[in-house]
Amino acid sequence: MNCLFCKIIAGEIKSTKAYEDSKVLAFQDLNPIAPVHILIVPKMHIASADYLDAASSQIVGDIFLVASKLAEKLNLNGYRIINNCGEDGGQSVPHIHFHLLGGKRLNWEPL
Ligand code: 5GP
Ligand code: ZN
Repeated sequence: MNCLFCKIIAGEIKSTKAYEDSKVLAFQDLNPIAPVHILIVPKMHIASADYLDAASSQIVGDIFLVASKLAEKLNLNGYRIINNCGEDGGQSVPHIHFHLLGGKRLNWEPL
């Protein structure tokens, strides 16, 4: 599969892992935009939120639980979870992923 995050999951491309279980991998973003910037991905290839279905959508809940666990482990005083979907959403890697951002007071401004 010619997918960057599938290659990271397979260990063909190196990453700095933050969490792993049978269904989910979390690793440091290569170009962090906050002091904490971790990508949380399902090990199963799903191209984007638009490709979730009733069977696969459980993984989104699993990923939110991982985000919460990581935030607790990292002592975050709050955090943000972002999923970019599709071209206008700013998705650059076509394997669904959630950005866990934190480590500072995050601003919230009109885009
Ligand atoms: P998107 O823009 O699709 O929501 O997020 C993709 C993210 O993947 C970006 O934040 C980018 O920095 C990160 N990224 C791109 N290539 C790599 C890589 O090879 N390794 C890691 N760890 N992160 C990557
Ligand atoms: Zn993939």
